[in-house]
Amino acid sequence: MRDSRRTRAVVCGGSVAGLLAARVLTERYDDVLIVERDVLPAGPSHRRGVPQDRHIHGIVGRGQAILDELFPGFVADLTARGVPVIDQLGQARVHLNGHRLRRARSGIEVLSASRLCLEDYLRQRVLALPRITLLEETSALGFTTTPDHRAVIGARITRSGLGGKDEVLQADLVIDATGRGTRTPYWLADLGYPSPESDTLTVNVAYSTAVWRLPDDALAGDRAVIAGPRPGVHRGGALAAIEGDRYIVTLIGMLGESPPDSPDGFVEYAHSLEVPSIAEALADAVLLEGPVRTRFPTSLRHRYDRMRRFPTGLLVVGDALASFNPIYGQGISVAALQAHTLQDQLRRGRALGTQSVMRALTRATNNAWDAAAGADLAFPEVAGQRDLKQRLGSSYVARLHAAAADDSTLGTAFLRVAAMLDPPQSLFRPAVSVPVLAHALRGPRSRDHRSR
Ligand SMILES: Cc1cc2nc3c(=O)[nH]c(=O)nc-3n(C[C@H](O)[C@H](O)[C@H](O)COP(=O)(O)OP(=O)(O)OC[C@H]3O[C@@H](n4cnc5c(N)ncnc54)[C@H](O)[C@@H]3O)c2cc1C
Repeated sequence: MRDSRRTRAVVCGGSVAGLLAARVLTERYDDVLIVERDVLPAGPSHRRGVPQDRHIHGIVGRGQAILDELFPGFVADLTARGVPVIDQLGQARVHLNGHRLRRARSGIEVLSASRLCLEDYLRQRVLALPRITLLEETSALGFTTTPDHRAVIGARITRSGLGGKDEVLQADLVIDATGRGTRTPYWLADLGYPSPESDTLTVNVAYSTAVWRLPDDALAGDRAVIAGPRPGVHRGGALAAIEGDRYIVTLIGMLGESPPDSPDGFVEYAHSLEVPSIAEALADAVLLEGPVRTRFPTSLRHRYDRMRRFPTGLLVVGDALASFNPIYGQGISVAALQAHTLQDQLRRGRALGTQSVMRALTRATNNAWDAAAGADLAFPEVAGQRDLKQRLGSSYVARLHAAAADDSTLGTAFLRVAAMLDPPQSLFRPAVSVPVLAHALRGPRSRDHRSR
């Protein structure tokens, strides 16, 4: 029986977005219950509910800064676990739109952990907090509401470990962090709410990932290679040093291209990439794990912010709110921005379970969505509305990447925006736009942008 003098929040989903939300909720609620369908592993191990956890996962600069705030010692602890810190332009070969960005120290230093290591660390930190309770092998089935359905007052759950009987967890706030497979649109429909609008972009992305041991000199001192797909070239790849002196290599296909999940096919596909660095690095490498493949058909954002009616007592975060084309590496950092938004609302003394907080969460998501959607719509095969602003934006960014092959301040400016450290508008200030336009008129200084 619940003690009605204590406030309670229920977070459905115990992956990254759920853990971050739960961490923030401990600042206000007496009890924070995390409802998770899987048994959560005691260490950095794969589990069914997060099929993407064996693929490369980058955190961007702003995401990392928020994680370090929410979990003091985050960077130091992971570094002590052997996670490399990589300067995004100084120690990485970054190829964008067919141009290798000129190398220089950018000051944007990010941890390069495997997803398993990162989630394991966050889980340990959150589960050690005094107000947190984890209910494993427990599935959220829906919400309970007041008779007029205007307020969510609990979550319906079933615990498979306890014979699968339905139960109700009463709560002052319920947060859906169940990822892309979220059922909230249907659960709201069952309560008589209209379906939220959704934005979708069909990108048909496939990832194949393997973990390798590389010879010491394989990348001549560099620690990462990024060569995403681009308009006209739908194959790409990314390689990064991770903890345990290993390298994670993800091969990417977009719009129907699909990297193989056999070791031979993996290496062959690496050789087919426009940028040779990854295949060269694999020449004398030892395969440790994989390859494993995952498909990601569409980017998807639910517009709870636009619903004319939305119940109180409910919020949606993480991939359940918006799931992005993974090639831009944004999901975890957006979940961190959303947690930061919740914390900000709490510190202003606001009640969390309102549609205005849902709107604030969506606003925290929108820059990343717009950037990813803009980059996806630069591919003519991706169906979607392209207005003049979008076309001009794509063409400007392509010119910026070309100019950044010669000028590292431009590459740094772009990467700071991609890292969510600076707003997108900063790319249009004169210090950036003048050299970009001058370069477009003059043409490239360096001859071979694609090499290595
Ligand atoms: C291939 C791929 C690569 C990616 N690469 C990157 C990257 O480089 N950088 C980055 O920042 N992001 C990346 N992402 C996105 C990132 O994985 C997610 O944004 C991140 O995991 C946060 O997601 P989440 O916690 O909202 O949902 P998820 O991680 O999907 O977790 C959902 C959780 O809810 C649980 N669950 C589901 N249904 C129920 C239920 N009914 N009841 C109880 N529990 C339930 C699941 O078991 C799971 O634990 C990538 C995604 C994919 C698919």
